[in-house]
Amino acid sequence: MITVKSAEQIELMRRANQIVRDTLELLREHTKPGVSTLTLDKLAYEYILSQNAKPSFLHYNGFPASICVSVDCEVVHGIPSKRKILQEGQIVSYDCGAIYKGWQGDAARTVAVGLISPECQKLIDVTEQCFFKGVQSIVPGQTRLGDLGHVIQTHAESFGYGVVRELVGHGIGREMHEDPEVPNFGIPGHGMRLSAGMTIAIEPMITMGTERVDWMNDGWTVKTRDRKPAAHYENTVAITENGVEILSL
Ligand code: MG
Ligand code: MG
Repeated sequence: MITVKSAEQIELMRRANQIVRDTLELLREHTKPGVSTLTLDKLAYEYILSQNAKPSFLHYNGFPASICVSVDCEVVHGIPSKRKILQEGQIVSYDCGAIYKGWQGDAARTVAVGLISPECQKLIDVTEQCFFKGVQSIVPGQTRLGDLGHVIQTHAESFGYGVVRELVGHGIGREMHEDPEVPNFGIPGHGMRLSAGMTIAIEPMITMGTERVDWMNDGWTVKTRDRKPAAHYENTVAITENGVEILSL
């Protein structure tokens, strides 16, 4: 079921998403070689609580932390740990969610640890471009999910990158994951239309090699099957009468 949000509800989601945005910025500032990912998780937890919000990932289906931290070939859902220490040259994806007055925010960023290769920087840049090209293509009431997915997919594949098929974006509101699914691939003219009042998380997950992924035995971490790097970039957006508002920027 698709839920349509009022202006007042979107205002609360705006605040939830600002908290997520600021948490991700804090994580970016603290990203450097030698930092334990558990330290970063604690930082995020404390910041979100200080903003009178709750970390939505903590205990979500049993997830043990406030953020997902996915390094290099880890695509998403990596678990912070005191033994998982950031190292120079890695790329690290932070995914974060917060609940403010019952409303959800969800966003992700991929960040360089120290100096990274030009190839990894390009992967990060193109993944962000995929998001923005997708958003810019949305005409409220006209664009369909297949059109949006096609724009994202076409941009990523023009660089020879893979688009993960088994994980997709989603509607968001009172629940973190609501209908509809928002794939990063698609066929133009297919799927439902994006119309005013819908709030969705658009989150390209782009790989340097194969789009195939493996689920790890920890029950969470998703890695690329060829173990080449992956990047993730996500924002929650609101479709309005006039266009698209990115709530987590
Ligand atoms: Mg997310
Ligand atoms: Mg999401």
